[in-house]
Amino acid sequence: MASIDTLAERLSTYLGADQVNLVRRAYFYAEQAHDGQRRRSGEAYVTHPLAVANILADMHMDHQSLMAAMLHDVIEDTGIAKEALIAQFGETVADLVDGVSKLTQMNFETKAEAQAENFQKMAMAMARDIRVILVKLADRLHNMRTLEVLSGEKRRRIAKETLEIYAPIANRLGMHAMRVEFEDLGFKAMHPMRSGLIAKAVKKARGNRKEIVNKIEESLTHCLQRDELEGEVVGREKHLYSIYQKMRGKHKAFNEIMDVYAFRIIVDKVDTCYRVLGAVHSLYKPLPGRFKDYIAIPKANGYQSLHTTLFGMHGVPIEIQIRTREMEEMANNGIAAHWLYKSSDDEQPKGTHARARQWVKGVLEMQQRAGNSLEFIESVKIDLFPDEVYVFTPKGRIMELPKGSTAVDFAYAVHTDVGNSCIACRINRRLAPLSQPLESGETVEIVSAPGARPNPAWLNFVVTGKARTHIRHALKQQRRSESISLGERLLNKVLAGFDSHLDKIAAERVRGVLAEYRMEVLEDLLEDIGLGNRMAYVVARRLLASEGEQPQSAEGPLAIRGTEGLVLSYAKCCTPIPGDPIVGHLSAGKGMVVHLESCKNIAEIRNNPEKCVQLSWAKDVTGEFNVELRVELEHQRGLIALLAGSVNAADGNIEKIGMDERDGRISVVQLVISVHDRVHLARVIRKLRTLMGVVRITRVRA
Ligand code: MN
Repeated sequence: MASIDTLAERLSTYLGADQVNLVRRAYFYAEQAHDGQRRRSGEAYVTHPLAVANILADMHMDHQSLMAAMLHDVIEDTGIAKEALIAQFGETVADLVDGVSKLTQMNFETKAEAQAENFQKMAMAMARDIRVILVKLADRLHNMRTLEVLSGEKRRRIAKETLEIYAPIANRLGMHAMRVEFEDLGFKAMHPMRSGLIAKAVKKARGNRKEIVNKIEESLTHCLQRDELEGEVVGREKHLYSIYQKMRGKHKAFNEIMDVYAFRIIVDKVDTCYRVLGAVHSLYKPLPGRFKDYIAIPKANGYQSLHTTLFGMHGVPIEIQIRTREMEEMANNGIAAHWLYKSSDDEQPKGTHARARQWVKGVLEMQQRAGNSLEFIESVKIDLFPDEVYVFTPKGRIMELPKGSTAVDFAYAVHTDVGNSCIACRINRRLAPLSQPLESGETVEIVSAPGARPNPAWLNFVVTGKARTHIRHALKQQRRSESISLGERLLNKVLAGFDSHLDKIAAERVRGVLAEYRMEVLEDLLEDIGLGNRMAYVVARRLLASEGEQPQSAEGPLAIRGTEGLVLSYAKCCTPIPGDPIVGHLSAGKGMVVHLESCKNIAEIRNNPEKCVQLSWAKDVTGEFNVELRVELEHQRGLIALLAGSVNAADGNIEKIGMDERDGRISVVQLVISVHDRVHLARVIRKLRTLMGVVRITRVRA
C-alpha cells in the first residue's frame, strides 16, 4: 500500500526538499479535510488523492501539480472554500484545484449527447493552466482503475465519458500510454463480455504465434547486427479496444487482425531510423503503399516514427515502427514528457503554460518543417490556448464562439431572428448586460420580444461577423423604410405649396421623372429625399413640370412626431424639446437634424430652402428629450440628493450630472435631464426653484 512516505521518497529523486515538504503538507491537509470520508471500496478517502499524485509523480510533474492532486476533491467534497486554500497554499495551487473542481462539476451526461468533440474543446478552454487537465486526467485514470466497486449504471456512465471525452483529450495531448489505458478500461466497463472474449482470444493467439514472433524477432535482430546498427527490437500487440474498433469499423475478422505481426525497433538517433529501414527492406520485401514517414511529417499531436509493412517468410505481414528513444518517450507521454525530461531546469519561466507552450512550439516546428502546419494548428494549439469560448444554450446544446463574444453574438449564432428581436439576456440564470463577454461553461439564455429591433450601439461590442452583418442589414432596412416615409412627407409638404399631392400626379409623369434620375422605383427617390441627398423642392418642380412657377400658397411646416427613427436626430448643440421653435437641417446621407430656430450653428443657412425645412411639433409627439440645465446654488451638504429628489418629484429623469465649485459658497451644477416637452421642463424648473439656496437656473443652449 502506497503511503505519503514512499511517495515523498520517490519525489526526492527529482524535487527539492522544500517542494517535497509542501506536497506532504498538502497531503496532511487533505487527510484532515476528508477525515471520516471513505471511498466505495471502504478505504479512507485520502488514498484516492494520494494515488492521483502517484500517477503524476510517474510523469515527474512539478510540486504544484502534486499539491493540487492531493487537494483536488477538497473544494468539491468537503466544502472548504478556495480562499482557505489560497491562504494555506497560495494562489497557483488554489487555482489548479478550482480548475479541476470546475471540470468535475461539468456534467457531461445531462447535457445534449453527440457533442463529445465540443466537450473536449470546452474542457480545454476552461482550464487556463494545462496542468489542470493533467491533474484531471490522472484523477480520472485512478477512478477508472478502481471502477469495479461502483454500480453498473454509474460505471457505464463514467466509462462512456472516459471513452468520449478523456481518451481523446489524452490523444490530442500525445499521451498515448494514458489513452490506451483509458480505452481498455473503458471498453471493459462498457462491454465486459466483448472485452473478455477478445482478451481470451488474444491470449490464445499469443500462444500460437509465439514461435513465429520469436523467429521474426531473431531475424530482425540479426539483420541489425549484420549492418552494425544499434537498436532494440520489441514485439508489440494491439490493445483490446483498438482490435475491437478494427473489427467493428473495418469489418475485419479477429484472425485477420491477429495475423499481422507487429514490432518496434528503438534506436539512438534519427539517422539510424532510416538506415534500419533500409536494412529491414533488404531483409523482407516491403508491401507497396504502406510506408509512412512520420518523422519528416509528424502526426498532428507530434507523434513521430517510421512505419512500414513487410512480407515475412511464407508471406506473413510484419508491421514495423522505427523510432528513436526520445520519439518513443514523446509517443507515450506527449505533453507530459516535458516534465519527465526537463524537471530540474529552473531557467524556464514559471508561467503556467510554459511547458505546454514548449511542447506546442516543438510540435509546431516539426509541422512547419514538414510543410503542413494547418492540421496541427486546428487540432492542438487552439485547444491549449483557446481563441474560442464554449457556452451552453438553455437546452444544453454547445455553441462555439470566438473569444470576447457577447450574448448578442450568441443570439445571432442561434438564429438571425433571435438576434434581431433580442432585448436582454440571462447568464447562468442571472440577468446580465448584453455587452458582457461570455466565458466557457456558461449557460446563456436570450430574452426576446416580438417587434424588437437591433440597437446600433451593439455594433460597438459584437465580435462575430454574423452578428455585425445582420445588425447592419437590419439597421439599413429600418433606415430605408424610415427614410422613405420622411422623404414622402417632405415631398408632399412642398407639393402642398403648389396645391398638389403625390397621389394627384399622373403615374406616367412620375415614371418620366424617375427615368430622368435613372431610378427604378419611387421608393428610391423618396429614400434619397429623406436622407437629404436630393432636395424635395427641386423634385416637386420636376414632377409638376413648372420650372418658372412660384408656389401659390405658403407651405406649412412639417410636423415632427418623434417616431421618425434613424433618419431624424436632435442636435446636440441646442437640444430642442417639444414646444421649442425648430428647423430641420438636411445633410446629405445623414437625414434630418432638428435644431432650435435660434441655434447659432445654423444661423447662416436658416433661410436656404434647399438646406433647411420649417418644422413644427406634432400634437401627439412622443418620447423623452434631453435638455441641459445649469443650476447655481449655495453649497450645502447632500445637495445632489436634494436636486435628484426634486427632478424626480416632477417626473423628470437625470441622465447626467456634473458639479463645479465656483467659490467657497456657490456651487454650479450641470444637469442633463430628460423631459417630454417644454411644459414638463417648466414644471421641473419650478420644482427646483423651491429648493433652499437656489440662486439661478438656466437652460443651456449653444
Ligand atoms: Mn477525484
